[in-house]
Amino acid sequence: MSRFMAGKYRNITPYVPGEQPRDAKYLKLNTNESPFPPSPFALRMARTAAGDLQLYSDPDCRMLREVASDKLGVPENGIMFTNGSDEILNFAFMAFCGGETGAVFADHTYGFYAVAAHLNGVKYERIPLKEDFSIDPDDYVGVGKTVFIANPNAPTGLLLPLSDIEKIVSGNPDNVVVVDEAYIDFGGESALPLTKKYDNLLVCRTFSKSCSLAGARLGYGVADEKLIEDLNAIRNSSNPYNVNRMTMAAGVGALCDETYFRSNCEKIIQNREWTKRELSRLGFTFTDSKANFVFAKCGRMGGRELYLALKEKGVLVRHFDVPGIEDYNRITVGSKEQMEKLISVLEGIIS
Ligand code: PMP
Repeated sequence: MSRFMAGKYRNITPYVPGEQPRDAKYLKLNTNESPFPPSPFALRMARTAAGDLQLYSDPDCRMLREVASDKLGVPENGIMFTNGSDEILNFAFMAFCGGETGAVFADHTYGFYAVAAHLNGVKYERIPLKEDFSIDPDDYVGVGKTVFIANPNAPTGLLLPLSDIEKIVSGNPDNVVVVDEAYIDFGGESALPLTKKYDNLLVCRTFSKSCSLAGARLGYGVADEKLIEDLNAIRNSSNPYNVNRMTMAAGVGALCDETYFRSNCEKIIQNREWTKRELSRLGFTFTDSKANFVFAKCGRMGGRELYLALKEKGVLVRHFDVPGIEDYNRITVGSKEQMEKLISVLEGIIS
């Protein structure tokens, strides 16, 4: 750290993204990307938009909001697009936390929440998961803080039913509840319709997983228009052109290509369930993930040991050196061929 770093940032611990190796020698199952390329229509749209890159992008993302409003059935002024969903999560910490208002989230959840809280000087509390890694919605009722909840949760993949999400939202009428639905398209029921009923709910979503656009960086939030107004004030004060032209066009294309989107989600769900059956056969235990990853523990060796053994054999998964989950690895669900390769490498390691 240089001697010029501002005092308020001297103690931050930045988020550590999953490894992004530059060579193609690894089977990459560590950052929950899609194994499928972006929709061909999305790519055509992005290529066309590239011809206008001399011009700034539309700061209001009007075309994207129009299409999203139509496809998602929510009002245009209740949607805001961002540079990945990490950006809207950070904006939510800036807009709805600080001073007296702290944040609350699960002890094992998306690591970015604690990082964003630190960055913004927000006090936070972690609520322990139950022994089976599930969330008890009663723990989140009337907490008097801004609630951040990933549904399905990461890295467990466990899903809360919509009724439990509604219980948390209605149980905190004077605080914002942020529901992070990065993985909702792989088998969950979205809380989007509840944004019309509750003025304290912000649903955050991403094009990085189910829409195969992780590299384009596109996320969004849906909420009551007053919440979106607050978030826009933060966005316009930090980076008004936060979504570039090509990404915006790719997003429109991806939203329009529903058949491609649905068929890819369906394949991931099938591959996930196949992988669970195979892991079971090999003696692994795992949570009932409804996301595009499985969170699994090998009875015969530690989590870190298995992560290193897999890496040596050219398979990258994600291991968290965090007490309570250190025996587990998070494995992204890829194509059937990729999953077959994973299982055969695992067979070799544990035999
Ligand atoms: N939420 C969760 C739970 C995630 O796992 C991720 C991906 N790391 C994100 C949000 C952010 O994704 P992105 O910024 O690519 O939209």
